[in-house]
Amino acid sequence: MDGYPNDWPEIRARVISAAQDRCEFCSVRNGEEVRRHRYIKSLWRPVREIDRHTGDMVAAYLPDTAWAPSIKVALNVAHLFNENKLDCDGANLVALCQYHHLSLDARRRRHQKATGQTATPSVEDKG
Ligand SMILES: [Zn+2]
Repeated sequence: MDGYPNDWPEIRARVISAAQDRCEFCSVRNGEEVRRHRYIKSLWRPVREIDRHTGDMVAAYLPDTAWAPSIKVALNVAHLFNENKLDCDGANLVALCQYHHLSLDARRRRHQKATGQTATPSVEDKG
C-alpha cells in the first residue's frame, strides 16, 4: 500500500476496534445493511429490525420516498487533519463509513480550492 506505514493493517484494525466497529460520525455498524435518508444522509436505519411481538428479525418498514436503496456498511480509516499517510497518531485517525469518508474527502477538497491550498491526493480507500 503506497505511502502507508508497514503496520497499517494493525493500526487500521486498532482504530476500528476503538470505535467499537462503528462510524465515528453516524454510529452505523461495520457490515450492517442500512438505508440512508434521502436528504439527511447521516440518518440511517437498518433494513431489518426485531419484531417487538415475536422477537424475530423482520424487514423494516422504510418507504422508498424517504429512504435511499440499501447499502452494506464498510468502515474505513481516514486521516482527519494531516493527510500524510505516515501520520498515524491516534488523534489524526478516524473510523468512518463509506459515506462519511467520501464526505470528508469532498469537504477537504472544497476547502483547499476555496483557500487556494495546493490540492493533495485524496484520502485513499484502503478497505
Ligand atoms: Zn458515517
